[in-house]
Amino acid sequence: MQAQFKTFLQELRLYHPLQSSYRSALSFLSIRYHRFRYARYKGEGFVCNFCGVAYQKFVPEYPSPEIRPAIDGHHVIAGYGENVYCPRCGSRNRERLLKAVIESRLPIRGKKILHF
Ligand SMILES: [Zn+2]
Repeated sequence: MQAQFKTFLQELRLYHPLQSSYRSALSFLSIRYHRFRYARYKGEGFVCNFCGVAYQKFVPEYPSPEIRPAIDGHHVIAGYGENVYCPRCGSRNRERLLKAVIESRLPIRGKKILHF
């Protein structure tokens, strides 16, 4: 049934636009929820280098039960664990690390970047 519905939406060329809208709405709601839930943790501890807000802890993320054996079995470092998401802007730890490295190691201020 789900596959038929997906095919139906693909035939109407609505699948990808709806999927994108769904993900955007989910992200929007998730960030609002975490802002509300983590408001009591504002304070010293972790500072987001995107939005500049500090919290005692960030939002954790753990792998789903379906992929957990693969993550654990192959000792994959996949960005899961405590303090992954910024409760304010939703940035992930790897995004914050990349921003810090770019700002501190690459002289790109004022230059244009082509991102693939
Ligand atoms: Zn942030």
